[in-house]
Amino acid sequence: MDARRNTIQRRMILDSVKELDIHATAEQVYERIAAEHPAIGKATVYRNLSRMAEAGELQGIGNFGGSAHYDHNLEKHYHFICDKCGRVFDVMSFFPEIEERIEAMDGFTIKGHSLTFSGLCPECGKLN
Ligand SMILES: [Zn+2]
Ligand SMILES: [Zn+2]
Repeated sequence: MDARRNTIQRRMILDSVKELDIHATAEQVYERIAAEHPAIGKATVYRNLSRMAEAGELQGIGNFGGSAHYDHNLEKHYHFICDKCGRVFDVMSFFPEIEERIEAMDGFTIKGHSLTFSGLCPECGKLN
């Protein structure tokens, strides 16, 4: 695959994750792109998503509900996942120095961390 085409695909994928704005799954990203560009393969989208997460262009926020989820917001923040509707919400970090503190204490080199909360979102909580 030539570099130019690859760049275009990556931009399309990044735009889709941004526009969906729901911490989209690989499947959701693929469906959105395929609606306009039916020629693009599912494997291409999935492969690019995981490469982009590795390269730090996107944040991979893990596998849950059977799918990998991606976030275009690269700022340090955490996630809350609703047990009922499965939606993913952003939670701001209340302890931005956590990595520095752990490194200072133990001498480990931290390259990243993830923390997710689960429970019920405000909407689902109301229905209970
Ligand atoms: Zn919910
Ligand atoms: Zn997020």
